[in-house]
Amino acid sequence: MSNYQQLSAAMFPNVTATPEQLEERYPARDLKEGARVTRIAPSPTGYLHLGVFFTAMINRLTASSTDGLFYFRLEDTDKKREVEGGADDILSGFNTYGLTLDEGFVAPGVVKGDYGPYQQSARVDIYHVYVKSLVEQGLAYPCFCSEEERLAAREQQEAQKCRTGYYGPFAKCRALSVDEALARIQNGDPYVVRLRSPGDESRRIAFDDLIKGKIEMPENDEDIVLLKSDGVPTYHFAHAVDDHLMRTTHVIRGDEWISSVPKHLQLFRVLGFKAPKYAHVSPIMKEENGGKRKLSKRKDPEAAMHFYAQQGYPADSVLEYLLTIANSDFEDWRRANPDAPRSKFPFNLKKMSVSGALFDMNKLNDVSKNVIASMDAQTVTDAILAWAQEYDAAFYEKLNADRAFATGIFAIDRGGPKPRKDMAKWSDAPDYAAYFFDDGFDASWELPETIAPADAAAVLNAYKAVYDPAADKQVWFDTLKALCPALGFCPEVKEYKKHPEDFKGHVGDVSTIVRLAVTGRRNTPDLCAIMQLLGAQRVMSRIDAAIEKLS
Ligand code: GLU
Repeated sequence: MSNYQQLSAAMFPNVTATPEQLEERYPARDLKEGARVTRIAPSPTGYLHLGVFFTAMINRLTASSTDGLFYFRLEDTDKKREVEGGADDILSGFNTYGLTLDEGFVAPGVVKGDYGPYQQSARVDIYHVYVKSLVEQGLAYPCFCSEEERLAAREQQEAQKCRTGYYGPFAKCRALSVDEALARIQNGDPYVVRLRSPGDESRRIAFDDLIKGKIEMPENDEDIVLLKSDGVPTYHFAHAVDDHLMRTTHVIRGDEWISSVPKHLQLFRVLGFKAPKYAHVSPIMKEENGGKRKLSKRKDPEAAMHFYAQQGYPADSVLEYLLTIANSDFEDWRRANPDAPRSKFPFNLKKMSVSGALFDMNKLNDVSKNVIASMDAQTVTDAILAWAQEYDAAFYEKLNADRAFATGIFAIDRGGPKPRKDMAKWSDAPDYAAYFFDDGFDASWELPETIAPADAAAVLNAYKAVYDPAADKQVWFDTLKALCPALGFCPEVKEYKKHPEDFKGHVGDVSTIVRLAVTGRRNTPDLCAIMQLLGAQRVMSRIDAAIEKLS
């Protein structure tokens, strides 16, 4: 046995498997040429952040557009940061938005695939096989430095104006002889395992980032920790082993990891693995005081995916909107292909923003209005009921008391060639639908200044006499027109504009008066349809109340 073999055997007495056996256990994937294998690898640190969702979506699109595969791996080696149920929240968020996973954790508590376990805490044995092999080759070593020693070294580095870290001459335990290391291990001294970095700070490495282009950085020369003193791996080490064994072809992740790429490439090389391709996604930005800043978990409610569920944005709206910020040509594509499924969009990593896409709530609302406008009444009603059941119990009860009436509300002006775009999210529905219910009708409306109360009362009185609850839209409007001459209003808007001084107003004003009386609003969807749904009794009682209010 060589010295290094002796050392590795003392450090890992229970490890019998070899890297070769693991290669066999996790064979190359049987996918077509060019298929990309991507992953999202969150830590279970709490709620689903928009940035993680966005990155997952980019991974999903990249895999789907190449007939590849997208999997979920849980990076749970940092128990200090772990939040109970943190992974479930992320997974159910993915599920809610129809972001499908092919492998790994695919839903809370549901795991699929042959490349598992998909949870790092269950893979410790696998990591040990590789660390053992590295020690055996002299590429890793045990480090016994205590916290105090490392702090003292750091102070020394700062005093000497040197780069801080465990590298070169400062990597004290790198110089320990195998015999010394063995003696300390046999003595039961605690230790971490470090990489014997082959890097040189004065050399540079270059790699092609699929989003950011060519990037050059100094090589890593730090002897980074591979295993902590409890035998649990660090993220850097674990992810390299996992991405290799799970046969990831493309690592697409937040750009906070760019600075770690030299470490990662070095790990892949030392381990004898082919490195994946990288694409680093810039954070989603927000405009503030004329400048741009990162969307913040603390300051911006829209940074959490829960926000969109609470507000009642349909999943489709969120996905459509995120695509507009992922690839700026998505909107052109959408205009040209209004009904095509999103999966047909030729997504391209290279077209992603390098500086960070700007999040724009108004734009999200516009996109969402279009999405909602294209839905049928039943879909909208069901979605609003589901939303209200969770977030607005009183509204839910109102709608649920008469579901046909509820569907009637949301059917108005829907389905035609020019649907109205009043609602951006389900939380707009309670206000949108308020006047359909007597307790939501707001009687504090005011006439436009151009209409005298007495004239409005006269219009309503005359209308009462001719109101036909069964009238269709054409008859309904003709009735209003027919009322005009006797009341001093002009039945034709064009005619009115030629001689406004001859009239009290035009047919549009007459309909405004009726609209205000019946709905309390100046602007509503098709008033004839509203009146039909409200029914004669309610319409008449609101008109009577209006006449009283005006006199
Ligand atoms: N666990 C890391 C994180 O939560 C993943 C980084 C990566 O995708 O490589 O950010």
